[in-house]
Amino acid sequence: MVKYQFIMGKSEFLIKTMSTIAYCHDRFAPLSETTISPMDRGFLFGEGIYEVIPVYNGRPFCLEEHLDRLNAGLQAIQMSSPYSHEKWTEILTTLVSKNGMGDQCLYLQITRGADVIRDPLFSALTPTIFAMSYPKPKPTKALLSNGLKVTTVSDLRWKNCQVKATSRLAYVLMYNEAKAMGFDEGIIMNTGYALEGTSSNFFVVRHGVLYTPPKSNQILSGITRDRVLLLAEKNKIPYRENKISERELLKADEIWITSSIRGIVPVLTLGTQAVGQGTPGPLWERMWDLYAADIINVSVPVPS
Ligand code: PMP
Repeated sequence: MVKYQFIMGKSEFLIKTMSTIAYCHDRFAPLSETTISPMDRGFLFGEGIYEVIPVYNGRPFCLEEHLDRLNAGLQAIQMSSPYSHEKWTEILTTLVSKNGMGDQCLYLQITRGADVIRDPLFSALTPTIFAMSYPKPKPTKALLSNGLKVTTVSDLRWKNCQVKATSRLAYVLMYNEAKAMGFDEGIIMNTGYALEGTSSNFFVVRHGVLYTPPKSNQILSGITRDRVLLLAEKNKIPYRENKISERELLKADEIWITSSIRGIVPVLTLGTQAVGQGTPGPLWERMWDLYAADIINVSVPVPS
């Protein structure tokens, strides 16, 4: 039995005393019995790639997109995916099923593996694959409407932010800086431009147009970001992928942050200033309805 206490931002939820099944070293076993070597390069160097995938009604949402990004990340660190998409799907849906279906958060990470000495030089190792999942309620409009308070933080990251690497120290430091100041999230600034949140992408609405920074090595190409842009395109909502300065951030009518786990969340306060009217904006409301309909469509319960 493993004890958890998760408190997730404003939409507080608590999971207590839960036994979780994990997948590691080619087998399913209780998380409490899962072990990874201290010589693992994921532990020693943060040398791995990960994904966090929401599960709705037992179905991983946007699984193909997450697996494509996983493969791109592995390629970026000169690894190849140990499994095909089909095999991943089988493993991950089995894990979700072993953990009771419903709505969950699925975490998956692959590291280069355990070495015999601590040596940064690559050598051919068996990758360490670890996955776990645990209950996580779907975001609801009512909960999301509480919104977030965000602040700006200075960029501490490396130059390959498109890679979803397990080495998260810079993000952890920036997030804790924002939290210590009483905010829910930090928007990372570099040379006067806003790039992304410490675990999210962001959007700005100004005069009915949706803006988000373009893809580059300075942001993670978020699955939720792509989905929002797709919904904007389909529904004829004008959007642009443009660099966003601090001044533009401050003049925004609406700001949203997006991530697979949080969904699309309106930002109501930026630093000491209200965003727009200080309430969730009309375009957020429209976009959330479109996104939520997608979640419901793709997540009809899996037949047992
Ligand atoms: N940027 C960063 C730095 C993140 O950690 C995340 C969360 N994975 C995102 C953006 C959002 O990505 P996604 O929509 O794929 O969850």
